[in-house]
This record gives sequence, structure tokens and C-alpha cells, in this order.
Amino acid sequence: MLQLWSQAVQSPTKTLFESRWRAFKRAYRQPMYKDLLQYIEEEWLQEDTRKFFLAYYTNTYPHFGQISTSRVESAHRRLKKDLESSQSEPIRVVTLINSIIEAQYTKAQHQHADNTLRPPPRYRHLLFKDIVTKVSTYAMQKVIETMNFYLPERLDKPIKRCTGSYKRSLGLPCIHQIQEALHDNRSLGLEEFHDQWLLVPRSRLLAHPQRPYIYPPPKKQQKGRPRGALNQPKKSTKQDLSEFEHTNQLVENGGEAGVEVLRRSKRLQSSAAQRKE
Ligand SMILES: [Zn+2]
Repeated sequence: MLQLWSQAVQSPTKTLFESRWRAFKRAYRQPMYKDLLQYIEEEWLQEDTRKFFLAYYTNTYPHFGQISTSRVESAHRRLKKDLESSQSEPIRVVTLINSIIEAQYTKAQHQHADNTLRPPPRYRHLLFKDIVTKVSTYAMQKVIETMNFYLPERLDKPIKRCTGSYKRSLGLPCIHQIQEALHDNRSLGLEEFHDQWLLVPRSRLLAHPQRPYIYPPPKKQQKGRPRGALNQPKKSTKQDLSEFEHTNQLVENGGEAGVEVLRRSKRLQSSAAQRKE
């Protein structure tokens, strides 16, 4: 079942998808699958939801270099493992897929919160001074990779004239822009990153250019241990709260797709529970 389903999902064209989906329905036309097919059609294959996962849709968007993601592959591995060890009842397949989507969504939210609050030390480079906490660490990592690949310049890896194609396809600063910033001893700017890589909408960043987007509010009086003390206690509950609030804010502002997934998944779980009763 999973194989037929993923073949359909991976279809590069709409026509191919439609015919594979018909094949899927033919293969599972017995009455016991009726509810499952209905669920997939009503919840996942509507015009507004199918574009989040059917390949012929997702391929039409700029991919920003994420053609194959290990995240998807590891989810797929987990799915296969879980399915092999179960009897693969239809409802279980769907519940499993849902729980994986949900877990990935939560993980993405946490990563986002982490990026804005605690950028790892390797991004404390002059190049990132103005963009850290505003641009994803994934994007900064790409900049580091580009830099390490070309610099120091070598005869076997010459830096050719700038065609702008790297920046156009990836939405990231190319080696020429990186070189320029290094030469001028300055940070890369937000304008060198596509909206895709920003952690908050550009309009909001531009409204507060001087301030990093999210930092805990300044404390009036620092009591007890000095800043930077090595034996810091674990995170304060205050920090947790702001992270939580931030996540909520994300859900409210930008994460419609994810919220939709969560909503559907909750609904499915409750219908699964009913079925068991
Ligand atoms: Zn260039």
C-alpha cells in the first residue's frame, strides 16, 4: 500500500498522479478501505492541501537547494520500519504518516525558536553580525560552505566572473558578495538573502533594523551570578516561556500550513479512537 501511495505522491505530472491515484483506488476498492479512501480524498487531495505534498506541485516552487532532504528520508525509513512491524491496517498507515508530519512540524518550530534565540557560536563571525538571529542557521551554514569551498582561492577552483545565477537559484549570497563583504570588513546584509531564509517577515525586520528580532526583554537589575558565569544553572523558566510564546506567535502568523496539518491530524486521531471503541 505504501509503495503505491508514494509512487502516486512522487508523480512528476498531474496526469500521472491522477492515473496512479486511480490505480491506488482500484487496488483498494474493497469495502474495508472505503473510509480510508474517502479520508484521503477529502482531507489530503483537496486543491488547497494537495499542493503541500504532491511532487508535481512541490517541484514547481524554487527549491533553494533542498532537492533531497535527509529529514524526509529518515522519516521515510521510520515509516517503512514501523509499517513492516505492523500489519499495516489502513488507519494505522495514515495515523503513522500524520504523527510523522506532526513530529516534523514541531521539530521545525523548535529549530526556528532556537535559531532566533541562541545562534550557535560558529555564527559569531563578522560576516553574520547584522543577520544572525534574523536569517536561518541553515542559510548561514551554506555561506560558510561556499566560503570554505572557494577560499583561499586556488588555481584548480578559480572564482569566475559573477553571473548572478547562484544567487538567483538559491537566494543566498554568492562567493562574489561574500568576498566583497570580507574585503570591506563588514557583515552580509539581509538584502542578500531571499525571504525564504528569513526567520521573520522582512517587513518586520525592516521596521526594527537596529534590534535583533527576539531577545528576552532587558532585566532591570541583574541579581546573583554575573553574565557569562560558567556554572550557569539550566535555562530559566522565563526563557522557556518566551520560546513558547514565540512558537505560539509563529503558529498564529505564518504557520498556516502546519496548523492545518495539526488540525487534520487531531481530527484523524479522534476518529481513529472512535473506531476502536
Ligand atoms: Zn556572484
